[in-house]
Amino acid sequence: MTRALPAPVEALVRERAVEPGPLLWLTGAGISAESGIPTFRGPEGYWKVGSRNYHPQQLATRAAFGAMPDEVWAWYLYRRAVCRAAEPNAAHHALVELEERIGPRFRLITQNVDGLHQRAGTKRVYAIHGNIDEMRAVSGRVTAPIPAGIPTDWPKGRALTAADRDLLQVEARPARPHVLWFDECYDEEHFHFDSSLRAAAEASLLVVVGTTGATNLPMQVGMLCARHGTPSIVINPEPNPFSEVVERSGLGIFLQGTAGEWVPALAAAAAEAYAPTP
Ligand code: NAD
Repeated sequence: MTRALPAPVEALVRERAVEPGPLLWLTGAGISAESGIPTFRGPEGYWKVGSRNYHPQQLATRAAFGAMPDEVWAWYLYRRAVCRAAEPNAAHHALVELEERIGPRFRLITQNVDGLHQRAGTKRVYAIHGNIDEMRAVSGRVTAPIPAGIPTDWPKGRALTAADRDLLQVEARPARPHVLWFDECYDEEHFHFDSSLRAAAEASLLVVVGTTGATNLPMQVGMLCARHGTPSIVINPEPNPFSEVVERSGLGIFLQGTAGEWVPALAAAAAEAYAPTP
């Protein structure tokens, strides 16, 4: 399924590897699509509460959690079960091998909350939207793993019991999923905001995989790289704002296709080019 890299992509990677600064990857839901985790686009994204269908952008909000915490928790616990049942795919593994070869020159910003990069073995990763396996006190900063008593195979439609509600607390205070919601702001403490912008400012090359760029920090990363004259390689089956920047500015290349088709070949080329010479 892997495709051979076009020569201009190989040339761009080699050219950028001699510049200072990390090779920065930015991944979104598309890199986990081939592991069987749905993106927010498409009909599987919808969720029924009572007789009403909600789109993820309505449910993944502080406002929805305030109005119907049990239903929002049940949606997250079901999505967590989907993530737990999934395995990292060839693209996740290729990034682990790349990091093993190039060490500190590797940097990854992921929008994904599924933990697949971390489970595959990636170490230098900023999970800028949190982690679906964790929770944090609603009125506090402390984060904790979702307790072992909460089923990891939560079926669609299961409602919270009183026992579940007792477990979903941190330091005896009600907890919430440790994810960044659409009506909330990034910060450094939980979501690596400053570190991500610093990595973008320092990057020698940006690779963007499987994201629409509909959220603020990923777009800032893309714009910052473009302002610094840092090229991007954009991997996506569909054109999107990142590929439009590349095509408008001429700074970089759009590789139309899936993560499985392009990431392993691109990671292998980057490993050659960025590896320290003995
Ligand atoms: P999105 O759902 O908005 O878009 C997914 C993107 O992936 C699209 O551009 C689509 O064209 C592309 N895509 C689909 N299949 C692909 C493939 N096989 N290879 C490469 N690209 C593919 O994604 P998003 O912008 O990341 O979602 C918004 C937020 O929702 C995320 O930031 C994240 O916090 C959350 N989310 C996370 C997960 C996860 O953790 N796996 C899944 C869904 C949503």
